Amino acid sequence: MRHTRLGDTYLLRLETDEEIVGAVTRFAADHGIQAASVEGIGSVHAAVLGYFDRATKQYLRRTFDDDMEILSLLGNLALNDGKPFAHVHVVLGDREFKAAAGHLFEGKTAATCELVIRPLSGSARRAKDEATGLALLDL
Ligand code: ZN
Repeated sequence: MRHTRLGDTYLLRLETDEEIVGAVTRFAADHGIQAASVEGIGSVHAAVLGYFDRATKQYLRRTFDDDMEILSLLGNLALNDGKPFAHVHVVLGDREFKAAAGHLFEGKTAATCELVIRPLSGSARRAKDEATGLALLDL
């Protein structure tokens, strides 16, 4: 991963095969970021996407092995159990120009992944929500 800081904002470039969600989480930990917004574009392979089924309180998961364009990556960073946690969603595009979208559990950088991380002042944290079973923002 390469990165630079422009004002209060970080610009990151991930290397081929670097796992995206883990890279964001590690970057936050290394830089003491406790709350941030995250955005990105690039391409990914071995992407594992999720769709949360409220009835079962489980994620349906699907893996996309092929290279996909990252048309939009949006997310946030907050602390969960005291450690940075990245909540990331993506819209991906395939070679037929069709889109797939969902919660990004993990995915490896294909050609490149360009991320913008904007730290927010202060910190935010997540806490288990009984109704959904998810660790929601504790606001
Ligand atoms: Zn999600």
